[in-house]
Amino acid sequence: MCTLAFQGYGYSQGFVKNYRKIANKVINDPNTRIKVVGNLDGICSACPNQTEQGKCTKQAKVLELDRRHMKVLGIKIGEILTWNEVVKKIRKKMSLKKFDYACKGCDWKQCGICMNALLDCHFYLMH
Ligand code: SF4
Ligand code: SF4
Repeated sequence: MCTLAFQGYGYSQGFVKNYRKIANKVINDPNTRIKVVGNLDGICSACPNQTEQGKCTKQAKVLELDRRHMKVLGIKIGEILTWNEVVKKIRKKMSLKKFDYACKGCDWKQCGICMNALLDCHFYLMH
């Protein structure tokens, strides 16, 4: 979901550079395989909010956000999906109401970028 909405904003230059690389990779090759993990991931690896213990400074909050996203999308930790499959699931399962539930509490939600990306994602399916 966050990658669908990624527009080059983030927590530091290093974070944005790493995230841009990951986002470009999955968008340019939609068959890229993505593993669902129950902890910090490749995006977190360059984030200044990652502690020396390998946790997020907002660990409980992000795990709860992840839990809600997994519930809505019907995916489990350990599962491997392609970017194509991920986008199909978002289109099929992530309504605006569910987006409100899944992303509730995320600091980025109020800026509206993610909601617009979700609307675009549904729009493209219809055309
Ligand atoms: S979960 Fe935490 S460490 Fe990972 S990208 Fe988000 S803020 Fe950074
Ligand atoms: S609101 Fe937050 S958790 Fe939801 S898609 Fe945007 S960045 Fe990700």
